[in-house]
Amino acid sequence: MIIDCHGHYTTEPKPLIEFRQKQQSALKDKAPPPSPDTVKITDDEFRSSIEGNQLRIQRERGTNLTIFSPRAAGMGHHIGNEETSRVWSRLSNDCIYRVTQLFPKNFIGVAQLPQSPGVAPENCIPELERCVNELGFVGCNLNPDPSGGHWTAPPLTDRYWYPIYEKLVELDVPAMVHVSASCNPAFHTTGAHYINADTTAFMQFIQADLFKDFPKLKMIIPHGGGAAPFHWGRYRGLAQNLNRPTLPEMMGDNLYFDTCVYHQPGIDLLAKVVPVDNVLFASEMLGAVKGIDPTTGHEYDDTRRYVEALPLSAADKKKIFLTNALKAYPRLKATLDKRGISVN
Ligand SMILES: [Zn+2]
Repeated sequence: MIIDCHGHYTTEPKPLIEFRQKQQSALKDKAPPPSPDTVKITDDEFRSSIEGNQLRIQRERGTNLTIFSPRAAGMGHHIGNEETSRVWSRLSNDCIYRVTQLFPKNFIGVAQLPQSPGVAPENCIPELERCVNELGFVGCNLNPDPSGGHWTAPPLTDRYWYPIYEKLVELDVPAMVHVSASCNPAFHTTGAHYINADTTAFMQFIQADLFKDFPKLKMIIPHGGGAAPFHWGRYRGLAQNLNRPTLPEMMGDNLYFDTCVYHQPGIDLLAKVVPVDNVLFASEMLGAVKGIDPTTGHEYDDTRRYVEALPLSAADKKKIFLTNALKAYPRLKATLDKRGISVN
C-alpha cells in the first residue's frame, strides 16, 4: 500500500470558489458577508471534481490513499479577520469531509485551521476538535505565517503556539507546517514562500526544545524539508555550534520531511542525508507544479518514480511509502481499519 501524505483539493467545485469570491468582495465593499449555508454542492459535483483528477492520478501512478486537505494557497489566513477565516475554514473542511465520505478508500482528511494574523492559535482548537472528533480527520495544516509573507507571528517553538500543540498531542494528530498564499510580492507562493517556511521551521526546531516539551508531538515539514537537506552540513554545523542535539536526534520520531521534491537528484539527496525513518511519501498532487519534465517525459509531481528509483532496500522503501506515515499519523491505522482497508 502506498500512502501519499500530502494532497490538496485544488479542483474544488465551483460553488465553493464562488463563495470565497463573494466573501472577499464583501470585505472589499464593507458589505455583510455571504452565508456559508447558501453553498449547495451535490455529490455528483464532488465526484466529478475528483474522479478525473486526483483519483485518476492515484490509479495511473499506483498509489492508494491520499491524506487530503483544502487547497493550501487558498487558506488565505491573511484575508479578512478571524471570523472570515473561521467560516472559510469550516466550509473548506466540510468539502474535504464530503470527498472522504464519497471515496473512503482513497482519501482521508486533514484540516485547515481558522488562523488569522495576531489571533491566538488556541482559537483554532474548536475547529481542530470538530475535524478530528466529528469528521474523522487525522491531522491539520499549521501555518507558521498567517500574515501571508510578512512573518509577524512568533517562531513555532514559542509558547504562543503551545496550546495548539497540547491539543494536537491530546487528539493524537500531527501538524504539517504549511503556509498559504504570499501577499508579499517579494515571495512567490510556491517557489519561495513555501520553501522559505519549510526551511525556517526546520531551523526553529533546531534552536529550541519543542520536542522535549512535547515528546509525542508530530510535525511534518513538506516540500522535502525545504532547503534543509541540500544544506544539511550547514544545519549539522549550526546545531553543533549551538550545542544542540544532532539533527537525527532532534527529529527523533517527532519530525518528518515529505518527498515533494520534483526531480530525481533532489530525492537522491534527501534519501542520502535524512534518516529514512523520517521521510514520508507525498506528491502534493495536484497542481503545485504542473507539467511534464521534458528531460524525463514524466510529470514533475510523479514522485513515486523517484522513490522507486532510490538505491534503498525494499524494507526502507516500504517505510517511506507506508509505515512511516502510520507513525506520523497515529490515528491513521485505526481509521483505515474502520473503513475496512487492510494495511500492508
Ligand atoms: Zn501542500
